[in-house]
Amino acid sequence: MNLGANLKTTITAKSACGQYFYDDSIASAAFFEERNNIGIDIKKQTLDSYTGSLGELEHEVIHAIQQKESQSMPIELREYEAYIAGANVDYLQENPEVIKMLFQHMVGGSVSSWYQEEGTRPKWDNPIFFLKNIDKLPVDSLTEIERKFNEEERIKELRESFKG
Ligand SMILES: [Zn+2]
Repeated sequence: MNLGANLKTTITAKSACGQYFYDDSIASAAFFEERNNIGIDIKKQTLDSYTGSLGELEHEVIHAIQQKESQSMPIELREYEAYIAGANVDYLQENPEVIKMLFQHMVGGSVSSWYQEEGTRPKWDNPIFFLKNIDKLPVDSLTEIERKFNEEERIKELRESFKG
């Protein structure tokens, strides 16, 4: 499969990407839609750093494919797909606490930076939105989940108010 030729995506060092990686220093790599370019530094110093870099490259190549093949895909799904592709599903099943981290810090982190860069806000503000609109769970199965979620939120708020 001649992926590179079909995508026509260029890959350049981060230092060749202008101000982006200086302004947004936490980003280790990025796909720039407007110029179909991936900015990344492939670190070959150790096996771990090389493996890590290839994982980052995989993530950004997935964004390049999404941009070409499924432009209407929302950012939430784009990030989920790009992160889950590089995830070790067996490891996640054995360590369910890591799943929360994957969603909060990785998918969640990338999605929030995207909204920040776009200067817009997401149309969701809680997990129920995804169960309803993305997973399309039947409404009657949502009532109980929604009730539990609201209850947990109320408990959290109460806890916070006692702390303060
Ligand atoms: Zn991403």
